[in-house]
Amino acid sequence: MELLIGKSLQELRNWATENNLERYRADQIYQWVYKKWEDNPWNMTNIPKDLRKWLSENAKFHTLERVEKVEAPDSAKYLFKTEDGHLVETVLIREKDHWTLCVSTQIGCNVGCKFCATAKDGLIRNLTTAEILDQLLWVQKDIKELPKPWNKVRNIVFMGMGEPLANYTNLKKAVEILIDQRGIDISKRRLTISSSGILYQLRKMAQDPLLRSVNLAISLNAPNREIREEIMPITQSNPFDELWKFLVNYPLPEGRKITLEYVLIKDINDSEKCAHQLARLVKPHRKRFKVNLIPFNPSPILPYERPEEERIFKFQKILLNHSIIATIRWSKGQKVLGACGQLRAKRKIPLIG
Ligand code: SAH
Ligand code: SF4
Repeated sequence: MELLIGKSLQELRNWATENNLERYRADQIYQWVYKKWEDNPWNMTNIPKDLRKWLSENAKFHTLERVEKVEAPDSAKYLFKTEDGHLVETVLIREKDHWTLCVSTQIGCNVGCKFCATAKDGLIRNLTTAEILDQLLWVQKDIKELPKPWNKVRNIVFMGMGEPLANYTNLKKAVEILIDQRGIDISKRRLTISSSGILYQLRKMAQDPLLRSVNLAISLNAPNREIREEIMPITQSNPFDELWKFLVNYPLPEGRKITLEYVLIKDINDSEKCAHQLARLVKPHRKRFKVNLIPFNPSPILPYERPEEERIFKFQKILLNHSIIATIRWSKGQKVLGACGQLRAKRKIPLIG
């Protein structure tokens, strides 16, 4: 069986040629898979019956298995299983007038942030391009009958499990397929790569015309070196000041901003002093940054707590008073879905073991 997803149009054409199919058959399949979200060759009506039969016996249209979907009023969490038995999480988030999909790029993560459930496993492996895209394909299949605009994911954030830039090659190929106008055709402006800030990977991204053209979010999470080193040990080898200098000079496309993500953790980085320090840092460059405050999602396996609501609003207000764009991302459906990485942690033993 040949896995057809994860292939670029050119690769699909090569595959068609190798199998004595006409080239335009590859184009038709590409459209069925990436435009009509079809995973059953028997429904590919412009393809002759004998070829449909051949495809059903020789081609695969998914690599992930859909295991579970947990729904909340404004979001849904999907759990998938890879062919080698690992679990992958994807979250669909309802915004005011569109869906945003939060996609995973690795199984586990070796960056080791102290507040993150994904870090607990270390890195198991990178996801393949097909596994990155299949998260979208399954979700699209699920929502494609809904009325417009709810029948199509509009925004994708690489903010699920893993460090996207540590899986550079597979991520880049996924982005190439996502933005291909002959297929999925998502605008570059609607893709966001979220990174913990590993400098050599960020420098690579800054020099890459393709990845540089999608949005960048950085998990800053602290207003200074001391606090960042405490909760994000990678700061020791990626110094705070150097990261900041890099961000201030990053070659931003016209009209874009870098998002600074800041997980607010009780008594760690949520004080008024921290807010003022962050404001002082950002203010001189406020046209190139926006701050996204993320109240910490508690989990039994993590040693921190979420600040009181009042404190979260106070932190935001200090930034706003300095004319800095600052939003709060209340994690949607938190009661049903649990914290980042938690659903997977809960199901890990029964599913794999
Ligand atoms: N590795 C990338 C992307 C995945 S993490 C990165 O770190 O940016 C996505 C976001 O979730 C990051 O901003 C991270 O700081 C945040 N996050 C991780 N654990 C969290 C938790 N327990 N509560 C709230 N946000 C969390
Ligand atoms: Fe990895 Fe991001 Fe979690 Fe840090 S916050 S451990 S970089 S997934």
